[in-house]
Amino acid sequence: AYDVLIVGGGPAGAAAAVYAARKGIRTGIAAERFGGQVNDTLAIENFVSVMETDGPKFAAALEAHVKAYDVEIMNRQRAARLIPASEPGGLVTIEFENGGTLKSRSVILSTGARWRNVNVPGEAEYKNKGVAYCPHCDGPLFKGKRVAVIGGGNSGVEAAIDLAGIVQHVTLLEFGEQLRADAVLVKKLQSLPNVTIHTMAQTTELTGDGNKLNGITWLDRRNNESQHANLEGVFVQIGLVPNTEWVKGTLELSKHGEIVVDAKGQTSVAGVFAAGDVTTVPYKQIIIATGDGAKAALSAFDYLIRTPSA
Ligand code: FAD
Repeated sequence: AYDVLIVGGGPAGAAAAVYAARKGIRTGIAAERFGGQVNDTLAIENFVSVMETDGPKFAAALEAHVKAYDVEIMNRQRAARLIPASEPGGLVTIEFENGGTLKSRSVILSTGARWRNVNVPGEAEYKNKGVAYCPHCDGPLFKGKRVAVIGGGNSGVEAAIDLAGIVQHVTLLEFGEQLRADAVLVKKLQSLPNVTIHTMAQTTELTGDGNKLNGITWLDRRNNESQHANLEGVFVQIGLVPNTEWVKGTLELSKHGEIVVDAKGQTSVAGVFAAGDVTTVPYKQIIIATGDGAKAALSAFDYLIRTPSA
């Protein structure tokens, strides 16, 4: 059995693995796809001390750093079930979809999250070529250009306010009759001169020239007329879905499906910690996920030295 078993190999899991291994305890990391979301990222310009890199390079660097330590890496392993220890100080079991099981005295969950797609023509084709999901990450790439934000909930309205300070013009599209964000945010958005808000707007297509995005088409659900705007960027803001389907019913989750953790990364189950985008930690960013992974590993180590083995 492991002392620490990490499930998820993104920035949070990689940082947890490095911190755990440096304590000289038996560490394993199992991931469906090592690197996580950064594999799908083009430019990364906000990991402080690294002026500029790209996703695949960053993912390779994460893996190289973990491999420099005595860590067992199990790639292409999708966890399907977590079984808490049957007694204090006992072993936690992780079952995988391929039928295998691993046991560990402590577990760190870092299975991350995924952005919800709008699933319209053009979205996949122009991803990273005008279609973006993270305003903190990609907002500055659209400086002085025209963008749209799809989604009028808190994240969409926050994104539109944020982007309005950087880009030339923001078009916000909301499917429902009114924006669903907090009133204070809606008021702020409505006060901005370079924002146009369309409600009852169903996005139907993200258009492009074959290389780059060049516009967005939507259906005005009030009169069934199709509308189009020429622009350079579209931010899809219709939700970030944590990868927690497999622990539902076992661990306490927030109403958004995130694993509820305390300030030390402790979950509702003894010996089980969590870090990064999969948790309730605010702001989903690489630098935050790595710090969170380090914290969870230190908490797991603290748990191990205080908890006698069953
Ligand atoms: P993830 O990176 O999501 O990693 C999750 C890991 O868990 C993966 O290895 C995955 O395969 C694995 N996994 C999932 N389910 C299971 C399972 N059941 N069993 C086993 N393994 C599983 N942030 C920035 O700071 N700067 C940027 O420029 C930036 N750009 C971005 C651009 C895009 C297109 C996207 C999608 C995100 C971007 N982000 C950026 C956000 C950043 O990528 C995330 O905040 C960060 O990757 C979160 O790290 P994580 O380790 O918590 O989760």
